[in-house]
Amino acid sequence: MSDNHAASGHRITGPWSRRSALALFTLVPLALTGASQALACADPATLSAAQKSMRKSLGFRAPSADPKKGCGTCAFFTLGAPDCGKCALLSGGQVPANGVCDSWAQKA
Ligand code: SF4
Repeated sequence: MSDNHAASGHRITGPWSRRSALALFTLVPLALTGASQALACADPATLSAAQKSMRKSLGFRAPSADPKKGCGTCAFFTLGAPDCGKCALLSGGQVPANGVCDSWAQKA
């Protein structure tokens, strides 16, 4: 039996397999961090129906899929607590800095 087929038969072998595993172990925690940041800043359960409706109509989502494009770099965002603030377009409620919506505009 070669090294590529260890006793368990489930050994990760080859450079692409290792890279894939490394990418997975690196990206999953980052994605979870972004999602938990958004939840800690603006728990959707605490928003009113009007606030939820406004977020939906603007296509608000958190975290943003584009790290260069988020509330933290938007002209309508005012930072309050770390990674959390207010949006001039949304009708109240906290907004995570890593969120984004369809009305994003680059901060000057
Ligand atoms: S306009 Fe959109 S991207 Fe800009 S701060 Fe408000 S929710 Fe975030």
